[in-house]
Amino acid sequence: QTYFANESRYEQMPYRRCGRSGLLLPAISLGLWHNFGHNSDFKNARIILRDAFDLGITHFDLANNYGPPYGSAEETFGRIMKKDFENYRDELIISTKAGWDMWPGPYGNFGSKKYLIASLDQSLKRMGLEYVDIFYHHRPDPDTPLEETMGALDQIVRQGKALYVGISQYSAEDTLKASQILKEMGTPCLIHQPRYNMLERWVENGLLDTIENQGIGAIAFSPLGQGILTDKYLNGIPEDSRIAKDGRYLKKETISDELIFKVKALNKIAKGRNQSLAQMAIAWLLKDPRVTSVLIGVSKASQLKENVSAINNIKFNEEEIKAIEEILLY
Ligand code: NDP
Repeated sequence: QTYFANESRYEQMPYRRCGRSGLLLPAISLGLWHNFGHNSDFKNARIILRDAFDLGITHFDLANNYGPPYGSAEETFGRIMKKDFENYRDELIISTKAGWDMWPGPYGNFGSKKYLIASLDQSLKRMGLEYVDIFYHHRPDPDTPLEETMGALDQIVRQGKALYVGISQYSAEDTLKASQILKEMGTPCLIHQPRYNMLERWVENGLLDTIENQGIGAIAFSPLGQGILTDKYLNGIPEDSRIAKDGRYLKKETISDELIFKVKALNKIAKGRNQSLAQMAIAWLLKDPRVTSVLIGVSKASQLKENVSAINNIKFNEEEIKAIEEILLY
């Protein structure tokens, strides 16, 4: 064993109850969507994971197709798990998902039982795990009956391959249906993973109410809008940014003058709170108790440390809330 976790790792991070379940999640969780594929630096990935755990981040979020190439983030995680975290398995909440395209043909995408069961088996192999803590259906599938997809999640739990199940990007209406089906099967939906940040607020339009009523927790992904809600794009596009390195999901064209005008105004409010904009954007999500955890991504350990410090100030006064609303509505 080459890594011994920081003994004070549980002293700073708050742990919040996930809906009406027995599970507590760290206020800040770490996602491996970017920077953990075979195209990324293994040493850097390993440092990020160790530092995260040392800071009290007990939850790592993956999916079958994170990379690139698909599957490689799970492989990297599996290698690091074996090297560093084998003795800490029971202190970790590891999640993975299936729902987007993964392998060719009709059985490697969407929401059939065939796809979900096979995909999780592959994920477990890549990560070298016997089970994951949370398995998600990654996105709604309009053509597969919800009963089948939820039935697959229930079966996976009964087989012992996942402890809990969740859904991602489901509308409020589909979330309610999925939740009712899962409850009847005796495998309640633990968590919903929606995109939620200051610039993308669809969840406020019913979803957060539904999950609260159903006793489901929420974990907000892309809380920084993939990096927009930081100070990094205020003066152009830096070479080491997601836009410059990997333009697949966050594109240069997104950085409009109008957007940067807003981000600059938000940055000013953050400064007044003695926070960085990244920290304020995370705090702004955590002020709502229905948001169990904020799921960040980082390309370097320094970002991780900065972002985790958001937990030191998640209170907003009325003027701050009002000023932020005005900027966001502008
Ligand atoms: P964020 O919105 O937190 O963006 C993360 C990126 O922003 C980093 O990789 C980094 O990019 C930049 N960044 C982070 N902190 C700072 C900082 N302090 N200063 C400057 N730049 C910073 O989240 P992601 O979009 O990465 O998503 C997080 C996780 O959510 C994913 O890993 C995944 O687990 C999950 N997810 C789930 C989806 C789903 O459908 N369920 C979809 C998408 C994500 P860089 O330095 O490279 O510019």
